[in-house]
Amino acid sequence: MKPEACPNCSSPRFIKAGIVSERQRFKCKDCNYYFTVNKLGKRIDEYYVNKALQLYLEGLTYREIERILGVSHVSVMNWVKKYNIKRPYNTSYHPTYKILSFSELNTFFGQPHNLHGAGMLVTELGDKFMLIKWERFRK
Ligand SMILES: [Zn+2]
Repeated sequence: MKPEACPNCSSPRFIKAGIVSERQRFKCKDCNYYFTVNKLGKRIDEYYVNKALQLYLEGLTYREIERILGVSHVSVMNWVKKYNIKRPYNTSYHPTYKILSFSELNTFFGQPHNLHGAGMLVTELGDKFMLIKWERFRK
């Protein structure tokens, strides 16, 4: 991953200037400004693609996925198309979801009634956790 321009003066003239905490550092040849590009950038994108497709398969709508992940529903639609994801048609139940911190998650699982009669999936989401819950037998 390569920056397009110096974030300080917008010059496209810069050189590599070592690695700092796992990031490539660059030095602008015009204003001598040092800057880095997060090498994880691309991996984080793929992470969100995976998460979005996962949620899509779990029955969430494009708008819900947009709200949870903060990626545009248009992007999600494009990914679904690109990876040719098809989900079985099922209207009998719709999952609910919560975004919880680690301690909220502990509290949630500490209460037996939360686990009764439902299927659940917990997935890491940034610094929090997402809990998807199916209450299949709810009248
Ligand atoms: Zn510069």
